[in-house]
Amino acid sequence: MSNVFIDKSQPRVIVIGAGIGGLTAGALLARKDYSVLVLDQAIVPGGCASTFKRQGFTFDVGATQVAGLEPEGIHHRIFSELEIDLPEATPCDPACAVYLPGEKTPINVWRDQQKWQEERQKQFPGSEPFWQLMATLFNASWEFQGRDPVLPPRNFWDLWQLVQAVRPSTLITAPFTLFTVGDALRLYGLGNDQRLRTFLDLQLKLYSQVNAEETALLYAATALSVSQLPQGLFHLQGSMQVLSDRLVQALERDGGKLLMRHTVEHIQVENGKATAVVIRNQKTGEVWTEAADRVVANVTVQNLVQLLGDKVPSGYKHRVEKLPPASGAFVVYLGVDASAIPPECPPHLQFMYNANGPIGENNSLFVSVSHPGDGRAPDGKATIIASSFVDPTQWWRTQDYEGLKQKYTEEAIARLAQYFYLKPETIVYQEAATPRTFARFTARDRGIVGGIGQRIPTFGPFGFANRTPINHLWLVGDSTHPGEGTAGVSYSALTVVRQIEAELKL
Ligand SMILES: Cc1cc2nc3c(=O)[nH]c(=O)nc-3n(C[C@H](O)[C@H](O)[C@H](O)COP(=O)(O)OP(=O)(O)OC[C@H]3O[C@@H](n4cnc5c(N)ncnc54)[C@H](O)[C@@H]3O)c2cc1C
Repeated sequence: MSNVFIDKSQPRVIVIGAGIGGLTAGALLARKDYSVLVLDQAIVPGGCASTFKRQGFTFDVGATQVAGLEPEGIHHRIFSELEIDLPEATPCDPACAVYLPGEKTPINVWRDQQKWQEERQKQFPGSEPFWQLMATLFNASWEFQGRDPVLPPRNFWDLWQLVQAVRPSTLITAPFTLFTVGDALRLYGLGNDQRLRTFLDLQLKLYSQVNAEETALLYAATALSVSQLPQGLFHLQGSMQVLSDRLVQALERDGGKLLMRHTVEHIQVENGKATAVVIRNQKTGEVWTEAADRVVANVTVQNLVQLLGDKVPSGYKHRVEKLPPASGAFVVYLGVDASAIPPECPPHLQFMYNANGPIGENNSLFVSVSHPGDGRAPDGKATIIASSFVDPTQWWRTQDYEGLKQKYTEEAIARLAQYFYLKPETIVYQEAATPRTFARFTARDRGIVGGIGQRIPTFGPFGFANRTPINHLWLVGDSTHPGEGTAGVSYSALTVVRQIEAELKL
């Protein structure tokens, strides 16, 4: 098959991957009349934010909660630009109920600012100055991010976008650029407050991949404040799939094309420019080369290096190889009888949890529970999804993959059974995903998830840019600023679209 582009009169953009990052970039470019082709190796679009159905249950594969749906939020902005309806959603309140080890009552991360302030003052006496600093940094960073800076800048245009986003109020963040959360805790005499540290480790690792000691303070300020009004986390009606489905609708309405079960095997580079991609149709086995004016790769930075083969600049390759080890995820999906769910169960809970071979200390089990009528379970039933970070290497090295998976599943269910009523008669369906599962269904290198980690050397200004060292080739998704999450990768997509537009208009 050659030349699957519909409209050849417009610049042709190939997007590799129909995750939220790739679909958002593709839909926005199609809206602006570019000729867009999105290719994805999977069966359904959405990547880590897609779903699967089993025995009447609908399970969210990875992402279960969404930020950025409020007015001015990134999904809201993009859906408005695309003129598509935002998915129906309910706010998560509390955003999370965090159970510290040995404690029976959770720390509730309330949506209301005042209520959350009262909760944290009760839970962590003496820590308010730290939280006030976080709030100040969050307000300044949030306004700055809302003006669409390009981070990190790679040319004069990028730098100009960055400079234009700065206001006097932004400057308050500058002295804290090289601070970690650990530094800030020490600044306020809280360095030895183990209970606060444990809470911060649990919450921050969900977003930054690393503990409080290592997480960049400016990143943490956003991660810790985004669950309160006027922002907030939301649970989508139906399933997470609705987000991708609407983006696909917009893409196709505006003349873009999506081909599922089509794997990009290689990005062709000539004279330092990406010129085409090599595509394999998984159903027919057919392989062909499709030329493009621009290529957007919605993959991990590790996958990007592989797709470029010997055309990857050595400095870039070296930088990727030197990244600290990335995390994988182990996820248990349970379809249960509603009687397994305690009354007043919050939508998200977090338990301290160190499964076999955890990554560092203070690892957790993050749990998402469906609620009646949210479209995920038949009447009288519910879904429970529990995920924890794991070291991906052991899943590839093991001689007994099924045995390891079984062990992890049993341990996770045993931990969940301390809160939920989980017995053979209440568990209707169970399934688990490991890094090997994520590698198979999302094609992410070794099944790694969640981006490159928000340590000082890899966050925001020091992270991987959307603009790659290869001309006409962009990287979009959770390896780039501002990091993981459907909201994060949507910002990443917006940046790429603006950069491509600016370049093609020149
Ligand atoms: C267990 C778990 C829980 C999470 N919870 C949340 C949450 O609650 N809220 C939240 O906002 N985020 C959450 N996240 C993170 C969020 O899901 C991701 O950061 C985000 O969805 C990543 O989107 P992406 O577009 O960057 O990439 P991906 O979702 O990885 O999509 C990439 C797509 O590219 C395709 N692809 C890759 N290589 C090729 C190739 N060579 N050819 C063709 N196609 C290719 C893949 O099939 C995939 O569809 C979670 C992630 C996990 C794993």
